[in-house]
Amino acid sequence: MVLPIIAYGDAILKKRAADIPKDYPNLDKVIANMFDTMHNAKGVGLAAPQVGLSIRLFVVDASPYAEDKEDTEKEKKELMNFKKIFINPTIVKEDGTKWKFNEGCLSIPSIREDVERKPSIRIKYMDENFKAHDEEYDGLRARIIQHEYDHIEGVLFVDKINPLRRSLLKRKLSEVSKGLVEVSYKMKFPIKK
Ligand SMILES: [Zn+2]
Repeated sequence: MVLPIIAYGDAILKKRAADIPKDYPNLDKVIANMFDTMHNAKGVGLAAPQVGLSIRLFVVDASPYAEDKEDTEKEKKELMNFKKIFINPTIVKEDGTKWKFNEGCLSIPSIREDVERKPSIRIKYMDENFKAHDEEYDGLRARIIQHEYDHIEGVLFVDKINPLRRSLLKRKLSEVSKGLVEVSYKMKFPIKK
């Protein structure tokens, strides 16, 4: 089932989300709905706060990025197969020289900005069966995880750009909060028009 995506300006996007227990109600359904919602909006990642749940859970599916011309065959294959569920995750390490990538967010349609992040991460998390994992990622896969992980920490990509850029976006961001934005999927806007 496709759920409405919470737009920029809603307090839930600024809140640190909570860990969930193994018996969290309807977890399978929550995860299935999040994949439906992400695919419908043509996203590569979606965090639970974006559908109104302040819990430490996000899903990713990088297969749309596998089409990119500049990627090597190895990268294409990695991106194609990068479809996962992260529950109660902790990024335990970030390494390397920061690199820029033009990020967008399903909660902030029509705005894209270059964001600097470190290229390599190590993350501990549970999968949908609550089996523990400890893995390392780099490149675009790390980038997607870092963006979604920020969501469950209450941080948005526009919080990571320089203050001057952000002040230039202020008006556009307030329009997003009010729903004064062209968007092809269902959203919930915090400020009524
Ligand atoms: Zn996002």
